[in-house]
Amino acid sequence: MPDSSLPAALPKVTDRLSATTTNHSAFWQNANLYFDRVYQTMGLDTTWRTVLASPKRVLTVSCPIRMDDGHIKVFTGYRCQHNNALGPFKGGIRFDSAVNTDEVMALAMIQTWKNALVGLPYGGAKGGIVCEPKKLSLAEKERLTRRYTAELLPIIGPQQDIPAPDAGTDAQVMAWFLDTYSMMVGYQALGVVTGKPVAIGGSVGREEATGRGVMNILRKFLATQNKTLADVRVAVQGFGNVGFHAARLLAERGATIVAVSERAGGIYDEGGIDVDAAGRYYRENGTLTDFPGTDALTNEELLTCDCDVLVPAAMENTLTAEVAPHVRARVVVEGANGPTTPDADEILRDNGVTVLPDILANAGGVTVSYFEWVQGLESFFWDGKRVQDELQKVMEKSFDAVNAKADEADCDYRTAAYTIAIGRVTEACRLKGLFP
Ligand code: GLU
Repeated sequence: MPDSSLPAALPKVTDRLSATTTNHSAFWQNANLYFDRVYQTMGLDTTWRTVLASPKRVLTVSCPIRMDDGHIKVFTGYRCQHNNALGPFKGGIRFDSAVNTDEVMALAMIQTWKNALVGLPYGGAKGGIVCEPKKLSLAEKERLTRRYTAELLPIIGPQQDIPAPDAGTDAQVMAWFLDTYSMMVGYQALGVVTGKPVAIGGSVGREEATGRGVMNILRKFLATQNKTLADVRVAVQGFGNVGFHAARLLAERGATIVAVSERAGGIYDEGGIDVDAAGRYYRENGTLTDFPGTDALTNEELLTCDCDVLVPAAMENTLTAEVAPHVRARVVVEGANGPTTPDADEILRDNGVTVLPDILANAGGVTVSYFEWVQGLESFFWDGKRVQDELQKVMEKSFDAVNAKADEADCDYRTAAYTIAIGRVTEACRLKGLFP
């Protein structure tokens, strides 16, 4: 019997029990595996293990919008809020045809560890809409973003849950998100979303921040090997917001970028690719194919090409057990979220490949999101130098903590990073206790 005493405006919320109740995808199972295998070695109270393995909330919304040709199309959107022991939920919104419940659940869990690892006062969340953003007109994308924002209204807010860009979304999408939320609550709520255009309360340096963080982490790691960026040849998979800026900033500091790729394929030049020129070519042509002076290669070939450092900066599950034995790089820097499957991770470790894990390597984006949120709440805006300096401080301090933990526990970087992150979140859960 439906409870007629409930207000109609209550959000459609499903509290999920995690992997035991439904047939979950490999990505969600993998995220749990990474969590569980570290949690079990930490000697922590098992009470919190089930709590942390279960996302706090998964909201599914249907977003009907009128398409430009007049017909109505219904899109499905999600927001998963994994854990908020350390602060409001925080994490990106993805527009992609492969978005589903399990993907947002996995990404939200990864976000919880990432935010905790780099010391942000946030929990983890992730959302998305099942769509092909490149096939939507600007007007359709705006209507879809606004409807999705309105549907999420009961569970988002500057102190509740703060979305940001992810694959397929950008500053313009965040601007519509901000405006819709602000119109509905009746005041200008800068803190409800990050990754906004600078002209309306965004932070300078947010767009390149994930790529800059990748550069900071690789540079710090190389220093432990008495090397610099000028000593390495780098292949970057993905030429979106993360891959492009990572490649650009690495090249700026002397690295040789031997390969880059986008969805359709990539390019290779052992002498080094001019990343800015490749960026211009990609913007103009929508592809890297036939970029002058380079050889074509597939995305799979990129992962196994001759290089010192591999930066998977596209989507999850690209470095699989099939590919891992053939990886020639000695260092993998995870620019994407969840690019390496657990079995591939083991193969890389056995082969002596160092993996700098996603929750450390790609935390630059959410870190500058935090700076943006703070600036918005204070209405006091920083210059680019301050953003870069503060970001570098956070990334280097996080690297040092992970490096020290790896030394102390004689373990790989992913295990060390998870140990720190899980320790912080579990301690916050323990201190807060259970309600009621
Ligand atoms: N989507 C980014 C990530 O995966 C950024 C999230 C944010 O800024 O909240 O970390």
